[in-house]
Amino acid sequence: MSYKILIIEDSASIINTLKNFIQNELNDVQIFVAKSMKESATLLLEQKGKFDIVLADLGLPDAPNGEVVEFIAKFSLPTVILTGTNNDDIEAKFRNKNIVDYVIKDGISALSYASSIVKRILNNSKIKVLVVDDSKTFLEQIKALLRRYRFQALTALNGEEALKLLEENRDIKIVLTDYLMPKINGLELTKRIRKEFTKDEISIIIVSNDLSRKIPAKFLKYGANDFIYKGFSNEEFFARINSNIEILELFDELKNKANKDYLTGMYNRRYLFDSGKKLYEEYKNKSKNFAVALIDIDKFKNINDTYGHNMGDIAIKEVAIILNKYVDKDALISRMGGEEFCMFIYDKKEEEVKKLLEQIRVGFEKNEIQVGDLKLEFTVSIGCSLEYGESLDEMIQKADIGLYDAKNSGRNKVRYRWE
Ligand code: GH3
Ligand code: MG
Ligand code: MG
Repeated sequence: MSYKILIIEDSASIINTLKNFIQNELNDVQIFVAKSMKESATLLLEQKGKFDIVLADLGLPDAPNGEVVEFIAKFSLPTVILTGTNNDDIEAKFRNKNIVDYVIKDGISALSYASSIVKRILNNSKIKVLVVDDSKTFLEQIKALLRRYRFQALTALNGEEALKLLEENRDIKIVLTDYLMPKINGLELTKRIRKEFTKDEISIIIVSNDLSRKIPAKFLKYGANDFIYKGFSNEEFFARINSNIEILELFDELKNKANKDYLTGMYNRRYLFDSGKKLYEEYKNKSKNFAVALIDIDKFKNINDTYGHNMGDIAIKEVAIILNKYVDKDALISRMGGEEFCMFIYDKKEEEVKKLLEQIRVGFEKNEIQVGDLKLEFTVSIGCSLEYGESLDEMIQKADIGLYDAKNSGRNKVRYRWE
C-alpha cells in the first residue's frame, strides 16, 4: 500500500524540491499537488479526504492567510504548515487544527526537514506508544495527541494494567508514564519494566506535574530515558518522542550491523547462538516442538572455481531468497558461515518439518538463476535434528551428523540424525 501525500503550495521550485526530497526518503508514495485552495478542495473531494499527510502553504493566491488550513481541518488530516515567516501568532491560531509541525521556508534545509517530518509521521503508524496515567482525562488528551501524529496509542490507568499491556504487546517502543499513581507509581513501574526490557528496546518517558529537583536523578538511575513536564506544548511533546524514537532506531541499526550478515542480510552466527539459546530454552520449557536444520550448498567450490567468486556470492544470496520464500515467522534462519545455513524451526510437528525440508530441497533442485548468458543451478544437502537432547549445541551437532550423512549418500538429500 502506498502512502498518499498532498502538497499545497504555489511555488513551482518549492514543489519540485519537496517532491525530490520526499521521493528520496520514501519509496512507496503517491504525491498530489495543489497550487491553490480551489485545487486543494477538488483533490480532497476527489480522493474523499484520504491523504496520509498534508503539507500546506499559508500564503496561496486564493487563500493568503492560511484559510486552507481551516479547510483541511475538516478532514482531520495530519498537517505540516509551510510558512514564509516566523510568526508566533501562527502557532496560537492553528493550535487545535491537527497541525503536526511548522516549517519556515527559509532555505533548502527547511524543505529537507519538512520531508524528514513526513517520513517520521508516516513511520509512526508502525510505532506503539503506551501511556500510563491515573487520570482518564489526561489519557484521552494524550491519546488524541498521539493519534494526531499517527502513533498507535495504548493506555493504562495504573501500573498493573501497563505491565499486562507490555506483556501482550512486546513491540511497544515508548512508555509515557505519570509519576504519582496509586499502588505502583511511575518509579516502581520503571524498575519493573527495566527488569524485562532494556533501554534499547523500550524508551521510558516520565510525565509529571511536579518533579522536585531530586526526582529526575532517581528516575534516571532506575532506567528512565527522559522527562516531560505536564503543560508541555505539542511541539515539545512531538520533539521529545521523536528524539527517543531516533535513539531506538540508532540502536536497531547498530544491532542490525552486529547481528546480520553483510552479503545476504540474514542473521549471522553470533545472533543465531545468542537468540537461538533463548528460543531453545523457551520451547524446551514449554515442551513445544523445535527442530534444527543445517543446509549446505553442494559442491559449492565448483561454482567458485568454474564461474568465479562473484557467481559464488550470487549463489549464496539466492539461498537467502529461497529459504525466505519457504519459511516465514515460524523459523529463525541464519548464515552460519561460508555456504552453510542454519534454521531453527519451531512449533511444527515432525511431519510438517519433514515436508518443509523436502520442499526446500526440491525448491533448490528446480531453481535456475539466470545471470547474463549463464544459467546457474545447484542443489543443497540438509541435516536435521528433531529432539531436544541436552543442549542446543548438541542439537546442532546432531543436525551436522545428518548433514554429513546427506553428503555421503550422494548429496541433494535430507537426512535426520537417526536415519
Ligand atoms: P560439499 O558439497 O561437500 O559441501 O562441497 P563444497 O564444495 O560445497 O564445500 P567446501 O567446504 O569444500 O567448499 C566451500 C567453499 O566455499 C570454500 C570457500 O572458498 C567458499 N566460500 C566460503 N565463503 C564464501 C563466500 O562468502 N563467497 C564465495 N564466493 N565463496 C565462499
Ligand atoms: Mg558445501
Ligand atoms: Mg562446506
